[in-house]
This record gives sequence, structure tokens and C-alpha cells, in this order.
Amino acid sequence: MKLLTKKVRIGNIYIGGGEDIKIQSMTNTKTKDVEATVEQILRLESLGCEIVRVAVPDLDSAKAISRIKSRIHIPIVADIHFDYKLALEAIYNGADKIRINPGNIGDEKKVQKIAKEAKRYGIAIRVGANSGSLPKDILQKYKSPSPDAIVEAAIYQVRLLERFEFDNIVVSVKSSDVLTTIKSYEILSQKLSYPLHVGLTEAGTFIAGTVKSSIAIGYLLLRGIGDTIRVSLTDEPEKEVIVAKEILKSLKLRKGVKIVSCPTCARCNVDLLKIADEVEKRIQNLDLDISVAIMGCAVNGPGEAKEADVGVACGVGEGLLFKKGKIIRKVRENEIVDELVKEIYSFS
Ligand code: SF4
Repeated sequence: MKLLTKKVRIGNIYIGGGEDIKIQSMTNTKTKDVEATVEQILRLESLGCEIVRVAVPDLDSAKAISRIKSRIHIPIVADIHFDYKLALEAIYNGADKIRINPGNIGDEKKVQKIAKEAKRYGIAIRVGANSGSLPKDILQKYKSPSPDAIVEAAIYQVRLLERFEFDNIVVSVKSSDVLTTIKSYEILSQKLSYPLHVGLTEAGTFIAGTVKSSIAIGYLLLRGIGDTIRVSLTDEPEKEVIVAKEILKSLKLRKGVKIVSCPTCARCNVDLLKIADEVEKRIQNLDLDISVAIMGCAVNGPGEAKEADVGVACGVGEGLLFKKGKIIRKVRENEIVDELVKEIYSFS
């Protein structure tokens, strides 16, 4: 059962308070390159990204936010480190949320100024601790970036904002280690009721990052912890969104076409990998709650295809199409993708 958190508005959507889990990602373009950044955000949007973060390392990037925002349709978050003036500039240029680490902003007065302006503009602030950048005093106290250390660092940041009468807060406690991340969020969720941004930091390359993120995020969501997720990959951000969507679909937290496909073996006489890959690409954006079976032969093929809403059981250079448990026709191998996609769309 989902833990109830405070509801926080981010642009035109809400996170927390029982809202659906929102998917977010971060661009890897230069933010000041407005064209490239907008193009990437539009691609992310089309795949199902609901909140996008952009790094703001300089003034030009902060100023670019207003031009980017006018051409996209999802809330934009400015990621700021070190310089509070960049945070202010991002706020003035329409950022819907800013992500800061008060610990590296310096003087508390600067954090106070950010909180004051964020409040005046009605936007949220995400604070949080990452295992790789804990304050020295906390590291000395705990000797290592343990879950307790990470949580203490995050709570310090939250209390600081609260002292400045700011409570439109989202919190994260990330580690690159799965078990540390899980434990940190478990502890944090017992201590605060702000919405939680869940994910690992520096999770790794596509395969390692996907596995680690799926375990940590999946486990936490199943325990009701988490209001927005980011799968962090050393890869294209588009893949982050696709993986995040699969995590939510697997946990039945998001509608979407569920593909059941076999791994193939010596009995398979079609190019099933290509067929499954192509079908997946073509239905990526459909939010239909149906299942599709793509099976290589007559061993498990007809059984799985019958169970699915739409399915194909392949033979030698051909496939038998199923819909709602019944055979509807036989098609040639080069027609399987088109015919399957056509039948999938018939449910929309
Ligand atoms: Fe092999 Fe057929 Fe099973 Fe696919 S369905 S793995 S082709 S036996």
C-alpha cells in the first residue's frame, strides 16, 4: 500500500498525495543549445517522460530555460550546484522546480534567498543527499556513506528549507549501491512525509543500470515508497524513460502493452528477435492495457498466443495470428509485424 505523502505541484502536474508515480529523466545535451535540448525533450515526452531535468552549469543555460519551456509540454526542473544566482535565474526563467544541494550552495542566506524566490514563484525544490557528496561532518560521524548518513544529510537540508518557511519540497536519498539506496529510502520514508524522488545515482551502463534500478525502484514501489522515479543510465535518456515505463508496467502501476515473447531456440524458423523488436518499437507509446504474445514455434506458441489479447505463433516462414483466444488468420513472415500491430491498434 502506497505511503501517503504531501501533494506537490510541479508545473501542470502533481506528485505525491496518492497521485500516479511520475516518470522523469534528464537531458544530456548542452542546455544552452536550445534546439538540441528541445528536440531531446520532445523525444522523451513522446516516450512517456512526465518531468524533465536539465543541468544549469552557467548563466546561458539558466536563461535558455524560458525558450526551452515555451516549446515543450512537460514540467522542467533546473539542476543547480554551487551558484545560488543560477538558481534564481532559473526560477526567473520559468523553471517549474529546482534541484539544489544546499550543502554546496554555501552561506545559508543564499539558500534562504532561493527558498524565498521559489515560494514567490510557487515552485517546488528538490533537495536530497547522494552517497558521493555527503558533507564532511556527517561522513566523519558515520565513517562511511551509510543509509543513516545519507538520510541525516537529506533531513538537514529539509529542515533548513523549513526554517525558511518553505515546504514545497521533494526529497531524494541516492546511492550507487542497490541495498544502500533501498535502506536509505526506507528510513527516510518513516521520517518525512514529503514526496520522494526515487532512483539510484550513477547506476551504470544500460544493462547494469537497468538491473540495479529495476531492483531498487521496484522493491521500493512495491513497499509503497516513491512518488516519482528516475532510472539513471550511462546511455541515452530515451532509454531511461523506456526502462522506467517497463518498471511501472511490470508492477501494474501503469497501463501499457505487455509483450510476452520467447527467447527462441532451434525450433524457431523465423527472425523472431527482429519481429519482437520492431513490434515493441511501433507500440512504444500506446497506453493500452493489453498483452501481446510473440512466439517462435508450436511448442509454447499457441498456448501463450491464445492467452494473450493478440498473439502470433510462428511456423516455417509464417505465423498463425490469434486474437482473444481464437485463430484469426495465417500470415507470411514479412507481414507478421504489420498484421500484429494492426490487431493491437484495433483495441484502441
Ligand atoms: Fe523455442 Fe518454441 Fe519455446 Fe520459442 S516457443 S523458445 S521457439 S520452443
